[in-house]
Amino acid sequence: MTTIFSFINQKGGVGKTTSAVTLGHGFALRGYQTLLVDCDPQGHIATQLSLPKGPGLRHWYYEEQPLSKAMVQARENLLMLAGDKSTDRVLGKLREEQWGAAEFAERLCAESEAMRIQVVLLDLAPSLNHLQIAAMLASDYVIIPTRLRYTDLDGVSEITRSITETSRRSSKPKRYYLLPTFFDRVTKETAQRLTELAAAFGRQVWPPIPQDVKLAEAPGRGMTIWEYAPQSSGVQGYVNRNGKKIGGYETILSEMIRLMEGV
Ligand code: ADP
Ligand code: MG
Repeated sequence: MTTIFSFINQKGGVGKTTSAVTLGHGFALRGYQTLLVDCDPQGHIATQLSLPKGPGLRHWYYEEQPLSKAMVQARENLLMLAGDKSTDRVLGKLREEQWGAAEFAERLCAESEAMRIQVVLLDLAPSLNHLQIAAMLASDYVIIPTRLRYTDLDGVSEITRSITETSRRSSKPKRYYLLPTFFDRVTKETAQRLTELAAAFGRQVWPPIPQDVKLAEAPGRGMTIWEYAPQSSGVQGYVNRNGKKIGGYETILSEMIRLMEGV
């Protein structure tokens, strides 16, 4: 069984790509056959893995190459369908064809299933258009990374509305989760926003990813955070007043594995 997750937020710089790469490599390190799909013409999935950008997504969807031919091996257990500016053609085709998004979703599910890929993570561009809809239709779960500043939260309801609308017409996505990023436990601002978010969305709000300079540094060193600084707060979370560890990508990875295994 393949489980598909999408990282969607029409805002840029909220940690979509960082989350997709970090969690994707996290799954791979735990032995899951994992595929990262770059749906953003910026091609930053490849950049973060210190690999060249490429027309993988275009080859697969627009030129209808099989997934196995269009993707590349990024790390052990980690496959990548790369993106570059030619991803715009994928968007063009999706826009033109009435059932494009549904066909995109169907093909992705069927081909990853056939290849015995266990987890697929889709990283989306900062917009809300046909490619985001196609990703939603393919996904079991949508993850909405969001920063915790006041101005970052107002777009969240727009995405959740779009998800709700999509899932009304389809069996997917089953559910969405909010992933608070750039959490700063020192100042009150982000903690306050996190409380508000939890009041509005309850258990659909995941524990936060702390602001961590190591996460920003890792791509420049050609490494994921697991290779560069696995003990950093971005991975391990922060310690609260009661000495309890909260958040970080390790915790989020466990949440996702629980979802996949239905426990
Ligand atoms: P998006 O894909 O939503 O545009 P990115 O994942 O590219 O966002 O992140 C934007 C920038 O912030 C990148 O330079 C990244 O390295 C950095 N970054 C991401 N998450 C964190 C974090 N938790 N703490 C510090 N820097 C981060
Ligand atoms: Mg990005």
